[in-house]
Amino acid sequence: MFRQSGWRAQAILACFVLLGLMMTGASLSAYRSADQRTAVEALQARTQGILSASANLKVAVLNSARGERGYVLTGNPAFLEPYADAKPEIRSGLARLHKFAGSHAADGDHVHNIEARLQDLANWQEGIIGLKRNGHHQQAVNRIKSGDGKRMIESVLDELAHVELHAKVTLAASTREASRLSRANELYQYGLTLVGLILLIISAIATVAVRRSIDAETQARDELQRRAMTDDLTGLANRRELLSSLERAIAAARRNRRPLALALIDIDHFKRINDNHGHPAGDAVIRRIAMLAVDVMRGQDTVGRLGGEEFAVVLPDASAQDALAACERLREAVGTTDLEMETGHQIYITLSTGIAVFDRHDSAETMIARADAALYAAKHGGRDQVKLAA
Ligand code: GH3
Ligand code: MG
Ligand code: MG
Repeated sequence: MFRQSGWRAQAILACFVLLGLMMTGASLSAYRSADQRTAVEALQARTQGILSASANLKVAVLNSARGERGYVLTGNPAFLEPYADAKPEIRSGLARLHKFAGSHAADGDHVHNIEARLQDLANWQEGIIGLKRNGHHQQAVNRIKSGDGKRMIESVLDELAHVELHAKVTLAASTREASRLSRANELYQYGLTLVGLILLIISAIATVAVRRSIDAETQARDELQRRAMTDDLTGLANRRELLSSLERAIAAARRNRRPLALALIDIDHFKRINDNHGHPAGDAVIRRIAMLAVDVMRGQDTVGRLGGEEFAVVLPDASAQDALAACERLREAVGTTDLEMETGHQIYITLSTGIAVFDRHDSAETMIARADAALYAAKHGGRDQVKLAA
């Protein structure tokens, strides 16, 4: 029983430790998962910003190239309008690219390259437009044909593609990590629920076990107490219980000003029974007298065995007459009871009884002494009689 409860206590402790560890782990995992989600959201905004800035830049660069070529080839100044409009578009696209991609070292390099190429392209375009304005049409056309502008634009588009790709790859990796952490977090929550459930079941089992062990302990204590109070041979109150019962009765009689009597009963010539029929037969007689005494006395009386073949009865609320009558009834009952021994012999038994009635000066000792004196008088008066103490 104790080894089992030790085992359960250890299991509960282990579960609590596990629960504590899992709760810490779950909190950490939830925190990391939330942190990663926030990082992914920030990366999504960054990637969208880069993609839209890149798309705007591409459109603006192509518009500026179309305007520049249109003007050089046709001489129509209307083409300078989209060319001029593209300039602020390029500036704002570059600013947004700086904002979203500039924080990252590798992207930052690409953005600086883009900026430098765009500056080169702008200078190159200004040069061609200047030539056309100043009437050097053929020179301007030759420069366009050289393909320098096209290469500059391709290099800008290349760099933009790098930045776009890097943003997409970073976002994908971060999203993968976020879903891994989210799965781990989910597992932690399941584990936590499972350990909680196990803990609940073990607690219930432990509670039942503790309840049972308390019940068993109470039963054992009650049994010990009962044994400490009762006489093994007869099951009556033993000497100690008789004395405390008498003390309680004296206190109640004094408090309530009620009568109280004490009777001491001794089997006459008991030694002969032992001698003639054996000790076990003597024991049987003692048990029989005990049963008769319990039958004859009232429910409120305490019948006990003082030891040997001597009994005592505490009779609360009994006057001298009541006690005399009760003890006479017992004496007569014993006298009219046939006790047949295992040997087949009949045994005739008589009792001598001394009664003391409570006086307000009495203690347990004085009552017993007076009852004992009355019993002595009964023996000397010829036995088989009840005597009242003076
Ligand atoms: P009296 O009439 O003067 O009381 O004579 P008695 O023989 O009854 O008196 P005494 O006290 O001398 O003898 C009591 C005997 O009871 C002595 C002892 O051997 C016996 N006895 C004491 N306890 C037990 C017991 O538990 N069982 C049995 N069978 N005999 C017991
Ligand atoms: Mg005796
Ligand atoms: Mg005797």
